[in-house]
Amino acid sequence: MTTDLTRATAAELADLLNAGSVSSREVTRALLDRTAAVDGAVRSYLHVDEDGALAAADDVDRRRAAGEELHALAGVPIAVKDVMATRGLPTTCGSRILEGWVPPYDATVVRRLREAGMPILGKTNMDEFAMGSSTEHSAFGPSHNPWDLDRIPGGSGGGSSSVVASFQAPLAIGTDTGGSIRQPAAVTGTVGTKPTYGGVSRYGLVALASSLDQAGPCSRTVLDSALLHEVIAGHDPMDSTSVDAPVPAVVEAARRADVSGMRIGIVRELTGEGFQPGVQARFDEAVQHLVDAGAEVVEVSCPSFTYALAAYYLILPSEASSNLAKFDAMRYGLRVTPDGIDAPSAEQVMAATRDAGFGDEVKRRIILGTYALSSGYYDAYYGSAQKVRRLIADDFAAAFETADVLVTPTAPTTAFRLGDKLDDPMAMYLNDIATIPANLAGIPGLSLPSGLADEDGLPAGFQVLAPAMADERLYSVGAALEARLAAAWGGPLLDCAPDLTEVSR
Ligand code: GLN
Repeated sequence: MTTDLTRATAAELADLLNAGSVSSREVTRALLDRTAAVDGAVRSYLHVDEDGALAAADDVDRRRAAGEELHALAGVPIAVKDVMATRGLPTTCGSRILEGWVPPYDATVVRRLREAGMPILGKTNMDEFAMGSSTEHSAFGPSHNPWDLDRIPGGSGGGSSSVVASFQAPLAIGTDTGGSIRQPAAVTGTVGTKPTYGGVSRYGLVALASSLDQAGPCSRTVLDSALLHEVIAGHDPMDSTSVDAPVPAVVEAARRADVSGMRIGIVRELTGEGFQPGVQARFDEAVQHLVDAGAEVVEVSCPSFTYALAAYYLILPSEASSNLAKFDAMRYGLRVTPDGIDAPSAEQVMAATRDAGFGDEVKRRIILGTYALSSGYYDAYYGSAQKVRRLIADDFAAAFETADVLVTPTAPTTAFRLGDKLDDPMAMYLNDIATIPANLAGIPGLSLPSGLADEDGLPAGFQVLAPAMADERLYSVGAALEARLAAAWGGPLLDCAPDLTEVSR
């Protein structure tokens, strides 16, 4: 086990804390010091809560000393994506329009973290309102990929992926509407899970597209994601779409790491053409590792996936245009008074505020969504997209008759350079070609590193998909593959990433 507390996994930290070998204050302090050393270069955080994190750590240390029964992850610090409402802490969603808003309540996910005794280190950067694949749409500037600071850390949750990949936190919370947990994990060599829709409460998660949004864990190991999954999952009466069923046994599955006899389905439409050769090569090797571990490979076809991106970019903007209507200059954050008008009306203040407060990508999607929902077009656009959504769910259902899980490369390429796709929305949208179908169907997905692509030496991601409420299968497959790959590499992939202390500014 490593002696550097910032390099320890959450499971290792939990063991050290439970054995009394370290205090939560020591762990929290070490991570905050790491942030002070490297976050000037990586820029994972929008807000660091040093005082709050240390106070929570002290509280848990005191309770442990008093012999109180504590949660398994008590004292293990975590970072939270800035899309989650945190009482007393700024929550901007990467947008100017929420600047200065301090929520009066905690999201259910955040409340569960606090109840488990996990110190919250800070709020991580993201594309504005979670729209994007690179964090370049954040109003506060992009985060950087720890493997190469000139490259994107994925998005929208690039703050949460990079905070974990740069050893500033063992765990982070992300949200995934079309891939924002899995694609950032893929390009940073980390692990990320989108649970089954409804498996984790959306209460207090600033909504992008309510029928697609799902919060989930970001970590460096599959077991760590499972441990966090169990903290945040479970029924919540505050979210009407929350599933009222037992949480899948994800930790047990991650610990057993057993794939013997499992049928692994390769989705014909999501391999080969369009995927970077090095990403495809690592994918093929990973599949072979699973076969060596006792799994059986089958090929499945999901023909309607061809239309997934088109359907998503109608459904998401439609729901977003409605969800973002509440940012009206009256209720939250920013209020801009228009120039040159003596007594501006509420509408004029609203227009000036939304003009100044929203970035280009957000405006683009609001316009698209409003158009798609307008009378006369609703059936042609939104209605058709909903029908495609049904076909995609049917494709999954058919595929899961012959396969227990499906696997694909998570993203078509490794991390691209900052600026490369910023002026080409279509190129940016194509990053999520393999992740979006799961959101449209509400099924769970996990991404873990499959290795480094030969072309550029950057991490590639391997995605596992399972039927709704069978999240444990993601962890069986993920943990089995992770163990085989670590044996082949001689250790975790992230050990090959640059240390970063030299480059910090
Ligand atoms: N990149 C996708 C988008 O821009 C997914 C975003 C997300 O999952 N929040 O919509």
